[in-house]
Amino acid sequence: MLRAFMSYYKPYKRLFAFTLFCGILAGALELAFPLAVNQVIDNLLPSGNWTIILWSAVGLLALYIFNGGFHYVITYWGHKLGINIETDMRRELFDHIQKQSVQYFDNTKTGHLISRLTNDLMDIGEVAHHGPEEVAISIMTLLGAFGIMLSINWQLAVMTFVLVPFLIVFTYFFGKKMSVAMTWMFSSIADFNSRVENNVTGIRVVKAFVNEGHESEKFSHNNKGFRASKLKAYKIMAKYTASSQIVMKFLLIFVLLCGTWFVINGQLTYGEFVAFVLLANVMIGPINKLNAVMEMYPKGIAGFRRYLDLLNMKPEQEDNPNAIHVEKLKGDIEYKNVVFGYENKDKVLNGVNFSIRAGETVALVGPSGAGKTTICSLLPRFYEIDNGEISIDDYNIHDLTMASLREQIGVVQQDVFLFDASIRENIAYGKLDATDEEIWEAAERAQMTTIIKSLPEGLDTLIGERGVKLSGGQKQRLSIARMFLKNPAILILDEATSALDTETEAAIQSALAELAVGRTTIIIAHRLATIKEADRIFVVTENGIEEEGTHQELLQKKGAYSRLHHAQFDFDYAGA
Ligand code: ADP
Ligand code: MG
Repeated sequence: MLRAFMSYYKPYKRLFAFTLFCGILAGALELAFPLAVNQVIDNLLPSGNWTIILWSAVGLLALYIFNGGFHYVITYWGHKLGINIETDMRRELFDHIQKQSVQYFDNTKTGHLISRLTNDLMDIGEVAHHGPEEVAISIMTLLGAFGIMLSINWQLAVMTFVLVPFLIVFTYFFGKKMSVAMTWMFSSIADFNSRVENNVTGIRVVKAFVNEGHESEKFSHNNKGFRASKLKAYKIMAKYTASSQIVMKFLLIFVLLCGTWFVINGQLTYGEFVAFVLLANVMIGPINKLNAVMEMYPKGIAGFRRYLDLLNMKPEQEDNPNAIHVEKLKGDIEYKNVVFGYENKDKVLNGVNFSIRAGETVALVGPSGAGKTTICSLLPRFYEIDNGEISIDDYNIHDLTMASLREQIGVVQQDVFLFDASIRENIAYGKLDATDEEIWEAAERAQMTTIIKSLPEGLDTLIGERGVKLSGGQKQRLSIARMFLKNPAILILDEATSALDTETEAAIQSALAELAVGRTTIIIAHRLATIKEADRIFVVTENGIEEEGTHQELLQKKGAYSRLHHAQFDFDYAGA
């Protein structure tokens, strides 16, 4: 795992070396100050030579200006290193997530994925910067301080250093408590976010049921939890700040006391004495840093492990090594003994057989839950079949590249998904490089130019999240326009108009009919008018395709279709 982690540093070797170098110099300068003071007190002070004293002050100041520069580099460039690594990981993870199968997304919570991409990676980024670099610099500074102390007076050095492990344990103890509190705080932030997200997405349901009070109460519960977790974190922090002050002062007083004793016994000069006290002070910084890293480390490592778990997840079925890319398919479809069940569930399809000729229109009818949508989802390989074979134009769909397969299949569904963007962008999703002319033509064929022209901002009108600013019919027209641009050989209309009122449905029907021209079309619908137009009708039941034929043929058969028909379509007859 360490090797995997280190591999992310590779592109930034020079940045890493540069910040590490500046860090080491900054550490060395920290140590220079006590030594300089030592010299001033023991050698310059007795001589009383003001010129030299002033010049040394100027020299020291110059060194510290450098030191300021080093600290700027460490803070900015060091974090830049962390941010670069974090950004690389985030891009890699996003690309990888996009490649996962539809099945994966069926079983994954959105909030969960978002927290992987944000919180986890931020923790990793912090470790990437502070981890190796600060540990190296802190240890070097500590050892440097110890070395100088040893060279001045080894007995006092050893006595001082005996206290260091105690200090480390002390800060570590608080660091641990702090990290537990932080974890709690982060998880209450996540709860809090998902509460708000849920509320905002479902705001229409909330309002329709007049449940604002109920929502406020639930929100207030999360809000209080968040408050409690923050208070807890700050309480620990307060205890730590207070007691660490005491402990640090204890260390200083200890050095002061022992130092005094050594001075009185003539084993230490005044200058050395002051240098010792200053060095003890210098040591406090690295100790704190080491502990901060120790606290950060488990979070970052846990995040990195989750990151690797996601990255190691096998992506969606990849293309066969000798898969062929077919630019344009005709659209003959054949299902042979297709068996399929969703993960860990009973089989939904137990041997489905049918074939559809290119350009033909076929309607799938059958009770809800029979598997009509499932049959259609298998064609673009949203799910992989367990057994049997599906082919298009005599190519097994597994022998086609995923891109050439999916480019040739267009699905129009009941619940249209639109992006929170302009009408132009949403239509052009069918062909990213579409010109304005092509977009207008597609809009024209989907019969939505009048709507677009009536909007003050025309094609640039923003349609809100999931297209809330459009009516159901307008959304469906937009998805049809998008499909005209995509221009697939095979079209699947999965209850495309079921959510619309009769009038709108009739209006959209003609746009759909135009869309279907020259394409193999599979229609899943309940309305008689739509089904009757189909070249053939397949009745889908739990037994597979139970019957097939034209409307008239199937009615005469007096089988499943005619039963379904009488149960479901009497209303249409009455209305017709
Ligand atoms: P239809 O479109 O004919 O109404 P579906 O193909 O949607 O039926 O569903 C067939 C069966 O598969 C149902 O029992 C349904 O619960 C199940 N099902 C549909 N989609 C999924 C899914 N993504 N994961 C698990 N089970 C599913
Ligand atoms: Mg369905």
